[in-house]
Amino acid sequence: MAERFDFLVIGSGVAGLSFALRAAEHGTVAVVTKKASAESNTNYAQGGIAAVMDPADSVEDHIEDTLVAGAGLCDEEVVRIVVTEGPERVRELMQLGADFDRAADGDLHLGREGGHSAHRIVHAADMTGREVERALLAKVREHANIELYEYHFAVELITEHHLGRRISEVYPDLHCFGAYVLDEETGRVLRILAKSTLLAAGGAGQVYLHTTNPGVATGDGIAMAYRAKARVANMEFMQFHPTSLYGSAPEFGGRSFLITEAVRGDGGILLNQAGERFMPEYDERAELAPRDIVARAIDDQLKRRGEDYVWLDISHKPESEILGHFPNIAETLRERFGIDMTAEPIPVVPAAHYLCGGVVVDTRAQTSIAGLFACGEVTCSGLHGANRLASNSLLEALVYAERALEPAVTYAKNQTFNEAVPEWDASRTENPHEWVLVAQNRREVRQVMSNYVGIVRSSLRLARAERRVRMLYQETEDFYWRTTVSSGLCELRNLIAIAYLIVRSAQQRTESRGLHYMTDFPEPDPAERHDTVIEYRLKEEVGP
Ligand SMILES: Cc1cc2nc3c(=O)[nH]c(=O)nc-3n(C[C@H](O)[C@H](O)[C@H](O)COP(=O)(O)OP(=O)(O)OC[C@H]3O[C@@H](n4cnc5c(N)ncnc54)[C@H](O)[C@@H]3O)c2cc1C
Repeated sequence: MAERFDFLVIGSGVAGLSFALRAAEHGTVAVVTKKASAESNTNYAQGGIAAVMDPADSVEDHIEDTLVAGAGLCDEEVVRIVVTEGPERVRELMQLGADFDRAADGDLHLGREGGHSAHRIVHAADMTGREVERALLAKVREHANIELYEYHFAVELITEHHLGRRISEVYPDLHCFGAYVLDEETGRVLRILAKSTLLAAGGAGQVYLHTTNPGVATGDGIAMAYRAKARVANMEFMQFHPTSLYGSAPEFGGRSFLITEAVRGDGGILLNQAGERFMPEYDERAELAPRDIVARAIDDQLKRRGEDYVWLDISHKPESEILGHFPNIAETLRERFGIDMTAEPIPVVPAAHYLCGGVVVDTRAQTSIAGLFACGEVTCSGLHGANRLASNSLLEALVYAERALEPAVTYAKNQTFNEAVPEWDASRTENPHEWVLVAQNRREVRQVMSNYVGIVRSSLRLARAERRVRMLYQETEDFYWRTTVSSGLCELRNLIAIAYLIVRSAQQRTESRGLHYMTDFPEPDPAERHDTVIEYRLKEEVGP
């Protein structure tokens, strides 16, 4: 049995839902999502959406800020497109029902974040993502053309590979026919055939031990696309958020609680445990420096002083202002951790936050596989370059969801469903006694990445990480091909592919630029000012 849709959307964050609503005006849409539909990075976005909504602000300034953060690797055409089209996409979101904060005069209340030269962050208190997700999901649920498949895990993208064609050449002429999707309730793998497929499966923060990303962010979309031999680029650029609440991950199912940049934007200062303010030593913008600089400064303080966390202090501001701007953070800190941010400092550490690299797309969200489009954090569009400017990611997802529409609709019009796609091979067996391997290998890959491929890297550390990742790859592949498919096993396999991609990309960049810092190559090298495009070779290099 196959399910058939004009459009298959993998992921129900801002990117997937925005596209689904548009595509549903042109045909039938399946949205598959591996947990409850709101569970996504989008849902946890606090700060907001960067967009030029104030007449006193300018598109040119937003472009300039983005280019500066991107450290020479942004695609200027893409930056211009996103920044120029962004405000209209934000207005559309408001028309759909998203309710953002207003100032006393009724205009949007615009926040300011690190790296931005103006107040341009559209937000809903400090729960912007939740509001965006709520508004989009409400519309998606009531649309007759959209079927929402919750607890459905996309296992593989379907291409010629599944029709028996041996694909040995790099980047051959490939087409996507849909995806194999695991129904978590029945354990059956569905064959969902689609004329156009949109990959919107988000980021991969879970490849590190400390991350602000929820458990779903295991890089499945990038790993699937990579295995399907799509182009993947710039995986070395993982952004670490400077300020996540120290020791909070167990309380939040593995996700460290994020203390938004807006706290620093509103005057919060960073102190080491001796009570000394240290950011002015590292950058003249102090706490408002881009997040990579702030994260590295904190990392340096922690390593130099042998401490586990630094303090973020905004208690010198009026209580009403703090509670007005950060109601969710203040409540969470008080109720779950007994910290009163209006009166005392907050212990914080950096955590993996945003992946700038991903599946390469052109300005129409087309990947290197025909019929496969992608938008949101799963992609590398050229917007972020070597470092993402705060709050540009929700914006990018909104803009690319719209840009994907016309090419995806045109492509779908010329396609029929590929009925030659076989059923999923369900002949593998359960291996309940060996499940301990999955849990151990998941922990190990995250540990390896945190130890050797974190904020500060070196050739030696990367070589060490590479050896360990190869070993984990071999063990896991062996287990995977013998074992009944499950989401836990697929996630592990995907995390290992992501780890491999990050390590290999980092090894290729023999310089320090943006988010990628190498102790043995501490300066940018003009000769290295290009994207790191990874060709498929994991299997060839490491073995079957
Ligand atoms: C704590 C936090 C705060 C942030 N704050 C901001 C901010 O203020 N401003 C900003 O611009 N950005 C912010 N970001 C980044 C931003 O939230 C994300 O980049 C953006 O929401 C990504 O949207 P997306 O739709 O691409 O992916 P996501 O929102 O992550 O959605 C991905 C979806 O894919 C699904 N999925 C994944 N794998 C599979 C699979 N195998 N099968 C089926 N479904 C799958 C997931 O379940 C999820 O529904 C923040 C991120 C975090 C974690």
